[in-house]
Amino acid sequence: MTEKLKPCPFCGGKAEIEGERIFWVSCQECCAESNSFIELEEAIEAWNRRA
Ligand SMILES: [Zn+2]
Repeated sequence: MTEKLKPCPFCGGKAEIEGERIFWVSCQECCAESNSFIELEEAIEAWNRRA
């Protein structure tokens, strides 16, 4: 189960999943972050929906 993360909507940088008990996605370039979610998939979706 590997969900694909879109590149950062702000700088196009590489995004990575963070967290263990709660999850969020952060850009490795500009430190933009998604909200935090209990479900990993929700964090990924939130990030990917961001425009
Ligand atoms: Zn970025």
